[in-house]
Amino acid sequence: MSEAEIVRMSREFYEGLFPKVCPNCGRRYDTLRDYIVASQRLWPTLNYDMELGNDKSPRPIGGLAMANCLCGSTLALSTKSMPVSQTHLIMEWIRTEMGRRGAKQAELLDHLRDEVRKQVLAEAAGAVTPELKEAACVQFPDPAPAQVAPAAGPPPRQP
Ligand SMILES: [Zn+2]
Repeated sequence: MSEAEIVRMSREFYEGLFPKVCPNCGRRYDTLRDYIVASQRLWPTLNYDMELGNDKSPRPIGGLAMANCLCGSTLALSTKSMPVSQTHLIMEWIRTEMGRRGAKQAELLDHLRDEVRKQVLAEAAGAVTPELKEAACVQFPDPAPAQVAPAAGPPPRQP
């Protein structure tokens, strides 16, 4: 699976967790965007199954993305309710990319979370074309050779 597909899958899952209400102050976050904008993100993003080396567990414990509510209490988005097949696909992607990019598991988890946030915020601003969305996903150097952009036109004539 490509990074774009993994990001889309995660995003759809997280969006499905809303509306969410803070058990402490009762503030209601209607959408994922609402939550991203208003709450304060906490690091790192966790995945217990990967930490335990149980990537293929038939009953994943899942992971946690935590943030502070405006009232200061900690809220968490858990992936526990994600379908097992999706959880496995994401973990497989992370393992592959750890080898390919030489990145740490935590970096990739945070990277995926970053991409989801970027997409949600960019789309809400109403300024995202599919090309831009694709571009936003490329944060690590790509091993594929870059395409050479065609020249903009003939050079200006000398007087
Ligand atoms: Zn609260």
